[in-house]
Amino acid sequence: MNAIQNPVEPFDVDSVRADFPLLMREVHDKALVYFDNANTSQKPASVIEAVDHFYRQTNANVARAVHQLGEEATAAYESARDRLARLLNASSRDEIVLTSGTTQAINLVAYSYAMPRLKAGDEILITTMEHHANIVPWQLVCERTGATLKVAPINERGELIVERFVDMLTPSVKLAGVTHVSNVLGTINPIAQLARETRRRGIPLLVDGSQATPHLPVDLRALGCDFYTVTGHKLFGPTGTGALWARKEILRDMPPLFGGGEMIREVSFEGTTFADPPHRFEAGTPNIAGFVGLAAAIDYVQGLGHARLRAYEQELLVHATQALKTIPGLRIFGEAPDKVPVISFLIDGAHAHDLATLLDHEGVAVRSGHHCAHPLMKFFGVPATVRASLAFYNTHDEIERFVAAIDKVRKLLG
Ligand code: PLP
Repeated sequence: MNAIQNPVEPFDVDSVRADFPLLMREVHDKALVYFDNANTSQKPASVIEAVDHFYRQTNANVARAVHQLGEEATAAYESARDRLARLLNASSRDEIVLTSGTTQAINLVAYSYAMPRLKAGDEILITTMEHHANIVPWQLVCERTGATLKVAPINERGELIVERFVDMLTPSVKLAGVTHVSNVLGTINPIAQLARETRRRGIPLLVDGSQATPHLPVDLRALGCDFYTVTGHKLFGPTGTGALWARKEILRDMPPLFGGGEMIREVSFEGTTFADPPHRFEAGTPNIAGFVGLAAAIDYVQGLGHARLRAYEQELLVHATQALKTIPGLRIFGEAPDKVPVISFLIDGAHAHDLATLLDHEGVAVRSGHHCAHPLMKFFGVPATVRASLAFYNTHDEIERFVAAIDKVRKLLG
């Protein structure tokens, strides 16, 4: 079944789970509990079937052929752009650049938008809770331009200290980059509030939406930021898909980053003129089947309704947090009141990797490590955490199994 649920009915998690074939499998002879959704999410049958159907029935290159298959492939691929524009409430499909994910999207902004505008003495402002994808591109661009990176602090609960962020929006700041949702802490940042402050000062705001779209309804017109990124594989779509959104007037002012086929208007050996955005930024043959799958994933999530998913996920978050807090010696990292069901934790005396390995033997998949957030680990003074990240297809029973498994593992390690 491809669950399109009635928004007034209670969330039927069993029928939703039946849409995800992988959730039915076992690991180590135990029913799988998949709590590694912030890493990558599982795919509903409709996504798997869309990709399968594409290769069986439609496969052709996009935007190049006038034959029937080429036209069908182009329409199926381009439908992802429409779905993304609808998902984000963008004003136009032309504001959606299809990328391989958030990493490529942020690098595109760093090299095409920021680098030509930066000079020595300028600054880029980010926050302590950024993923490496929203740190390293800025460092590379700063090295090349003489600009510097500065970092707005967070508090012990894992919330951005908004007043400090605002104080740091000095005239030398030429761009601010903030994650919408922390991949480690689950914290939801107050983007609309931050965007009001950056806008007032004429500073463009980039928002890393990688962890937000799987959990929250995103309305770009209400948020008021200037750039927004999407990761398809966390949004129940295939890997190697994603997007950069930016307003048309900003995209129009950005030079291409990669040159090649499909991004040009006309090429001669004397010079080349470029296509209008978004195609100007999409050189070469894209991940066509991947975007066909992403279009199906967005239809799936929107069919369920983000508002209802969020309400159910909040129940899961409260349940899991309360249950974990009953375990002696367990410390949770990230206790912002406004968060998604992503819970990082450690247990006194146990190494994160040992915990995750033993949990795996109990059938529970979690991630351990630095989660591509070294500076955040340093802030909390730990080398690694265990992270349980839930999605709308997880259940209260799975939380009970997870907590029982932790208790067992804790006793083993103790
Ligand atoms: N930003 C955040 C907050 C993430 O969690 C991730 C993925 O782990 C990324 C960026 C990288 O995204 P992608 O896999 O689309 O390159």
